Amino acid sequence: MDLNGIYSQLIMEHNKSGHNKKEIDNPDYTERGHNPSCGDDLTVSVKFNKDILEDISFMGTGCAISEASASMMIDLIKGKTKEEAIDDIETFMGMIKKEITDEEELEKLEDAIVLKNISNMPARVKCGVLAWHTLNEILKK
Ligand code: ZN
Repeated sequence: MDLNGIYSQLIMEHNKSGHNKKEIDNPDYTERGHNPSCGDDLTVSVKFNKDILEDISFMGTGCAISEASASMMIDLIKGKTKEEAIDDIETFMGMIKKEITDEEELEKLEDAIVLKNISNMPARVKCGVLAWHTLNEILKK
């Protein structure tokens, strides 16, 4: 299945802007996520201000989907509380696993809703969830 129209456009925009792909000063947590089946190797860093994820970034190299997904996740979650972040990650994972299909509920995922299509592409699922899974590991600490 091809990514078409708005999907590929949004993915391209996120890859081109690169505004979330950077180092942050003195992150509180850094976690590496690796997807051997594609070669994606991304490191997610978070700086907390009390309960708020004040700054998030990712580094490393991955395919277009994994990097765009990381960038969409950061746009969505940066500035939110830990509880809200966990809730967003659960919604995203639910969308990918097709457990959540209600459009209204998925709308809160903002740009990341375009990744709904990868749930039909098993080979791309690991790319799409990599950054979310990695951030989830940080939040479990
Ligand atoms: Zn990939």
